Parts: sequence; structure tokens; C-alpha cells
Amino acid sequence: MPERTRVVVIGAGPAGLLLSHLLDRFGIESIVIDSRTREQIETTIRAGILEQGTVEILTDTRASDRVLTVGQKHEGIELRFAGEGHRIDFADTVGRAVWLYPQHEVLKDLVAARLAAGQDLRFGVTAERVEDAGTSRPRIVAKDAEGNPVEIEADVVVGADGSRSVVREAVTGTYGGYFREYPFAWFGILCEAPPSSPELIYSNSPDGFALISQRSPGVQRMYFQCAPDTDTEAYTEEQLWEILQARVPGTTLNEGHIFQRDVLRFRSFVAHEMRRGRVVLVGDAAHTVPPTGAKGMNLAVADVVLLTEALRALLLDHDETLLDAYPEIARRRIWKAQHFSWWMTNMLHLQPGASDFDRMRQIGELRTIVESHAGRAYLAEAYTGWQFEGGLPGVK
Ligand SMILES: Cc1cc2nc3c(=O)[nH]c(=O)nc-3n(C[C@H](O)[C@H](O)[C@H](O)COP(=O)(O)OP(=O)(O)OC[C@H]3O[C@@H](n4cnc5c(N)ncnc54)[C@H](O)[C@@H]3O)c2cc1C
Repeated sequence: MPERTRVVVIGAGPAGLLLSHLLDRFGIESIVIDSRTREQIETTIRAGILEQGTVEILTDTRASDRVLTVGQKHEGIELRFAGEGHRIDFADTVGRAVWLYPQHEVLKDLVAARLAAGQDLRFGVTAERVEDAGTSRPRIVAKDAEGNPVEIEADVVVGADGSRSVVREAVTGTYGGYFREYPFAWFGILCEAPPSSPELIYSNSPDGFALISQRSPGVQRMYFQCAPDTDTEAYTEEQLWEILQARVPGTTLNEGHIFQRDVLRFRSFVAHEMRRGRVVLVGDAAHTVPPTGAKGMNLAVADVVLLTEALRALLLDHDETLLDAYPEIARRRIWKAQHFSWWMTNMLHLQPGASDFDRMRQIGELRTIVESHAGRAYLAEAYTGWQFEGGLPGVK
């Protein structure tokens, strides 16, 4: 006999854990499963920038205080091109901010909150498929770390299982989506050195893009544009510093031991469907963006904000209207974020085969932004995040 719960969530990433946390505030029971161990979840380096609305939801629902104490508030970024830096002042243009607080720290906070609340959170359990997706009692078929079968039936199954979602197949078919691949990737490093700059630097250079970012007072995160098939071991440490230094003319980077390298491919994807009956997708399972606009994790949070209200109405008031509307309302923000991520990517990266004309046009586009209040405000509004429709759920 399958176990039974109200909501079964596949994936203990930011989307799945936050959804379970918010549902709990309405007294709605859920089970969250994840194929990874707790340690893997809490140590994998991914996104680092939280929009103001994401921070508000974490703090107002008491999921995290540390974001305000350990995280750093940033009220601007720098765009660097043609040898000069230009600050985009968020406070001055839109009165908002972002916080530098790594994704794995958000996950540590959410895991701790879930376990402290006695939540059913299971690590090492891998979903294989969803059955009876079109009915009011969908079911997930999974295996635990020892290979034992696990079956959980629920009122609602939520696919928060990331870009390689198995739940997506039950909703839309594996390839059912809008898709774009980019001809470049990011080579990312983590190094032991103090910050080279108080704010993030997004640099468009003749050699290609670079992003100078921080993780903590002693650790920096930096990226540079590379070919998608680049091997992480293709460069020595010395070569990596040469590449990075050349792409941020005007700033001398603080160098230190490089202890992690990764290559992050660029893809834009939006699933054609986000819901089939009582099976719903959130976060990267439904959409992915290139990381240039720092939207991936924040978009996952925005889906969850909407879905919480929809599930509250369904499960407590027997009202399915909001769940019916969920995909359409979510898609409005998803496509705004898709556009912003695409726009930042194209404005800042060197396109393979770009002509002199293309390069000069790109500089003209950057000047259009930095030399105009409206241009700076447009970037600042999108980067710090649009307001959530309907406010924050579960905030008492
Ligand atoms: C390598 C990488 C680097 C990134 N770097 C950046 C960055 O620098 N900046 C940025 O803005 N964004 C970045 N992103 C994007 C950002 O991290 C994601 O948008 C965000 O994690 C989405 O959250 P999510 O909860 O939807 O999915 P995820 O965080 O992917 O969580 C999905 C969870 O589901 C689990 N899972 C998957 N399949 C199953 C299954 N079958 N059964 C059980 N569990 C399963 C996974 O183990 C995972 O814990 C990066 C993403 C990746 C993959």
C-alpha cells in the first residue's frame, strides 16, 4: 500500500524546501524527497544573488535570519566596458537592493527549519516516475538509498526536481518546451582571497565576458566566458588569473588558491505545460535561464509564492480556481525573467564570429543603459526583482 500525504514534493532544492515550509505555515502536511544526501545539498555551490522579495519571504516567514547577518546587502552593480566602470545604483533608481547569500546557505537554513518543525524530509530517495497523473490521487514511485521501493500517494504531486525533472515527463513530455542554447558557457572558479571589489562587476571586454563576485570575506567567486565544451582542467591557475585579469581592465584582482572549478552551460527553457491535473511543476523543472541576470533561484521562489496560495485554496477551501490560473500567472514573470536573462547575456558576451560593427553596437547599447536614468532604472528594477503578485503567502 502506498503511503499517503497531502502534498508530495520531489526535490529539496530552494523550490521544494520553501514550498514545504510555506505550506506548513497553513497547516498543510507534505513529504519532501531528494535523491541527494543532506551533505551534498548543503555544500553544492550554485547561485548567489537573492532578490529583495526572496529575502523578504525568507525573513518574514522565519525561514532564515542569517541572510541578514551573514548575507551582504548590495545596492548596486558595476557594468564595465570600453575600459570604464559605470555603477548602476539600485537604491537611487528603484529604492531596492539584492543580497549576496549563497544558495547552499539558503538550503542549510531551509533544511534546518524543516527538520526543527518535525517535517518529513527524506534524503537519498529518488523518484522514478509519477503514476495516475490525470487523477485526483496521483502517486510517485521511488527508491530509497538501499534500493527499496517507496510509493507515496497525495492530493498533489509537485515536481521541484530541477532541470532534469522526471516529473516533467508526466506533465508535458520530456522535450515539451521552448528552448534556446547559447554558443558559450561560464568557467567558474572559487578562490581563497578577499573581495576584489565591494560590488559585483559585469565586464564586457574585447576578449569576452567576466563576472567578479564574492562569496564571503575570504572567498571570491569569478566567472569568465568560455566555449561550452571547455574542460575544467584546461588551464593552470596562472593561466586562469591571466584570463580573468585581462577581462577586467582597470581593476587588479586579488588572487588566491583556486579550490573549485566548474563549467556552466547556458540554456533558456520554458516547459509548454506546468500542470497536468494534480501534478504541478515549479522552479528549474519548469524553466531554466542563463545565469547572467541571477534569476534562476529567484524565479523558483516566485513560482512557489504563487503555488502556495493555489494549494492553500485547493486543499483548505476546495477552490481550484487559483491552481487553474497558476501556469498562466507564473508564465508572465517567467517570460519577463527569460527576456532579462537573454538581454543581459547578449549585451555582455562576445558572440562567436562577431564583426567590428557588432562589437561597437554592443558598446552603444551599454551606453544607452548607463547614461540614462530610465536605462539604469530598467536594469535595476529587473535585477532586484519585480514585486510578487498578490503579496507574500504564509506571512503572519
Ligand atoms: C551547476 C549549476 C550552477 C548554477 N549557478 C548559478 C549561478 O551562478 N547563478 C544563478 O543565478 N543561478 C545558478 N544556477 C541556477 C539555480 O541554482 C537554479 O535556478 C535553482 O537551483 C533552482 O532551484 P530548484 O529548487 O528549482 O531546483 P534545484 O536546485 O536543481 O533542486 C532540485 C532538487 O531535486 C533533486 N532531484 C532531482 N531529480 C530527482 C529525483 N528524480 N528524485 C528525487 N530528487 C531529485 C535534486 O537532487 C535537487 O536537490 C545554477 C544551476 C546549476 C545546476
